[in-house]
Amino acid sequence: MNIVNFVMKKRFCLVVLVLVSVSWTAYSQSFDEKVQEYISHPKGKYCIKDVTIIDGTGGPVKSNQTVLIENDKIVRVGSDFVIPEDYQILNGKGKTLIPGLVMLHEHMFYTRPQFEGWFDVAQMSFTFPRLYLAGGVTTLRTGGSVQPQADLNIKRWIDEGRMTGPKMDVTSPHIDREGLSIASLGVVKNSKQVGEMVNYWADKGVTSFKVYNMITREDLKVCVREAHNRGFKVTGHLCSLTYREASDLGIDNLEHGFMASSDFAKNKMTDQCDPFAARTGLLEEDLKGSTINALIDRLIENGTAVTTTPNVFEPYTGREVVPGGGFIALTPDYQQAVQERYDKRVNKDSASTALFQKNLQWLKRFYDKGGFLVAGTDPTGAGRTVAGYANQRTVEILVEEGFPLEDAIKICTLNGAKFLERDGEVGTVEEGKIADLVLIDGNLTDDVHLIRKMEFVFKDGVGFDSQKMFESVKGKVGLY
Ligand SMILES: [Zn+2]
Repeated sequence: MNIVNFVMKKRFCLVVLVLVSVSWTAYSQSFDEKVQEYISHPKGKYCIKDVTIIDGTGGPVKSNQTVLIENDKIVRVGSDFVIPEDYQILNGKGKTLIPGLVMLHEHMFYTRPQFEGWFDVAQMSFTFPRLYLAGGVTTLRTGGSVQPQADLNIKRWIDEGRMTGPKMDVTSPHIDREGLSIASLGVVKNSKQVGEMVNYWADKGVTSFKVYNMITREDLKVCVREAHNRGFKVTGHLCSLTYREASDLGIDNLEHGFMASSDFAKNKMTDQCDPFAARTGLLEEDLKGSTINALIDRLIENGTAVTTTPNVFEPYTGREVVPGGGFIALTPDYQQAVQERYDKRVNKDSASTALFQKNLQWLKRFYDKGGFLVAGTDPTGAGRTVAGYANQRTVEILVEEGFPLEDAIKICTLNGAKFLERDGEVGTVEEGKIADLVLIDGNLTDDVHLIRKMEFVFKDGVGFDSQKMFESVKGKVGLY
């Protein structure tokens, strides 16, 4: 064999190998070893038998149900059919099946312990995506990004099977004017820059936009126009604009329930943020006040969605240090910082407790009247909101504060999917939909807190071991 022949043969082999691997990826998603470690059920045929289903539609809980999963689809749901022979059985007795959570105010970052009084956040590119999936989230929208390029990479690596995490809708960096002292936030100088920013990040792959505390009405106008032109939606955590102004200008979504509303502030100055006046206004507005009722009606009329993020507002009274159980996920340094802040504040702020509950009662009224209510966690604040744990906790809070369990699940599943216009594929346990499902060890109708006992999270028909994912990043949030 001469040397030329040998090289040619080697090349031919390489070509064949490349062809084989290309056709393989076309038929089946492949996962890196690091991801495979958390897969309990590779794509296949599964039958979840005798399970209680909360299907995400808001309809009644159904017991003794059987669900067939074939590859990435739910192919059968019911109680009156013969189970085909070639399905692997998962015993669902005493367990609950819900759709994968679809939550809309998520971040790939987390609050840092303060340095000399400076508030800031740190990117958690490695722990947070896995924690979200562990906590039952199969689809999320970030609610603002501090490292958008990292978030876009995370999304791509998850889709390519190189990282464990949910399907992601990546949001732009916060669009804001000068005013807040947060080192990770950029600022625009004029409305023209808002338009440039929207188009720059849309070109990069961002699919949602977020405006922040200090923007002007003109900024929002431009943002909505440019984002809508590209087929994308705009959400906002407001202060300088009232909810009514933003809703009338066509914003799609308002963040943080009514907690960021400056509609109740006295002597509100146009395009100006006065957080103290806004908070006082909120505290003073009556539970059944005429301003809140008129605002609720206007938001419903305009079809503006509202995201509740109750976990990040949990008061310091009668609650876990990190509600939802996420304390164990933190590094020792972060645990210490969060604990110290908690100890300083515990049992000292009855106003926050009252406002926390009033906000949720207003949101329930909004929802009951037909308002478009979605949910998210916002893992920031004082560090008491940790990805994954917080998503489970959000369902608990909604039930604790008076939402029927079926509605709490719907808000965290179907409604999120509707907002993302993916409700044709995900968001409910229904035949023909993608198998994004969470199997919980316990009957949620007995106690909503059993939601913390997730066993398997199916994403596109692939089952992931929830506890193993939680376990793998314990003590690591803050560093990674
Ligand atoms: Zn946020």
